Amino acid sequence: VAMICTFLALKMGKSMTLTFWKYKYDPDNYVLPYLQVRFIASKAIERPHSQAFYDDKISTFASKPVKPVTLKQLVRFGQPPLSNESLQACTHYARTELPVRLARRVRAFQSLPFIVGTNPYIKEIYSLYYDSFESLVKYASPNAAGNDIEFTEKLKDFVERHSDNIPTLARGFLECKQYMNSEDMARFLDDMIQARIGIRLIAEQAIALMHQKDSKTGGYIGIIDTQIKPDQLIKQCADFVGELCEFNYGESPEVIIDGHIDTKFTYVPVHLEYILTELLKNSYRATVEHHKKMGRTTSLPPIQITISQGLEDISIRIRDQGNGISDDDLHKVFEYSYTTVSKAAEDAENDPSNIFRNITEMAMQSGVGGPLAGLGFGLPLARMYARYFGGSLTLVSMWGFGCDVFLKLRHIDDSMAEGLEI
Ligand code: ADP
Ligand code: MG
Repeated sequence: VAMICTFLALKMGKSMTLTFWKYKYDPDNYVLPYLQVRFIASKAIERPHSQAFYDDKISTFASKPVKPVTLKQLVRFGQPPLSNESLQACTHYARTELPVRLARRVRAFQSLPFIVGTNPYIKEIYSLYYDSFESLVKYASPNAAGNDIEFTEKLKDFVERHSDNIPTLARGFLECKQYMNSEDMARFLDDMIQARIGIRLIAEQAIALMHQKDSKTGGYIGIIDTQIKPDQLIKQCADFVGELCEFNYGESPEVIIDGHIDTKFTYVPVHLEYILTELLKNSYRATVEHHKKMGRTTSLPPIQITISQGLEDISIRIRDQGNGISDDDLHKVFEYSYTTVSKAAEDAENDPSNIFRNITEMAMQSGVGGPLAGLGFGLPLARMYARYFGGSLTLVSMWGFGCDVFLKLRHIDDSMAEGLEI
């Protein structure tokens, strides 16, 4: 069979994988081996139209150095009163810098192992980057066609189209776990996500400043909020996660916010919102699942969130009583794709009175308002966002009781003083 398939593959000019699977087809555990043959287009990732032209462009742009911008500069672009010159400087930076960064992402995808590149989810995100490069590179040269308003419209479309690509990427890599060693995968994802944060910041700052031109924006300088109130943001995120939790489990724990609740500071709110939502989802899930597992009928123990305003940092501690994490698992929780969701779903399936049965299904559907857990990307991503501007995220577990997660964020003014580059 292998010889016939090889002959066919050569005839078709394609490469091929042959896999023997053990196939369980009836409840008596009768195992029937079967052979899977997959013919793969000769290039793992193929582009249909005008490929050579854009491949050339990608090579040119990918070889240009990345021009990091400091956070200070990003704020300076939008310092009120906003002048036309600084607005133009910001758009010019976005026009020239984004194609370079996008070309590098395209190159990174192209260097993935062949079989990984054929995964439909990964292919989808690759195409998204390729298409975005194609659509933005037109605006890169100084005398390029199109004015800044048109460019901003393109940017909006770009940001929108990339908004949900992390769950897709996560699913792709979950499926490719066996084809890539975990360090290479972690390195690829670290680079990818780090670069994605920078790309989005540049694009979103350019869009926000364009709007700031003709409107008053409160404490905002572009996408940076100089008056962020963590207690309000926590409440907002807790409401959202509480609803997800009610929907999934039929109940949700109370949240207590204490400490320096009047704290205000300067930060990128979408980043903080992302981190808080991920941490809360974990704490809510652990609290409810543990409580149910122990068969307790008392009310759920609350999640306590303490805010502290230090001289250099804002710290937020999230304390839950969800049984914590065992020492054996503790080192894995920051790995990409590490999750205990399928295990929980398995346990639940064996329990006839369970209400957790749909966790895995829910988790895989994802999207905003989607799952409480399931992709194993929550903690590694939250930590990456925290570290981006010089902060940190630490998880301490008291196995048998609960977890404390410490989030430390630098005041952006302080991180600006050292000129952190993005
Ligand atoms: P996911 O939530 O999708 O499973 P995460 O990266 O957010 O992925 O978390 C990985 C794993 O770490 C979770 O599946 C869970 O087993 C464990 N975990 C994270 N936070 C907590 C917590 N507060 N209490 C108990 N276990 C936790
Ligand atoms: Mg999570």
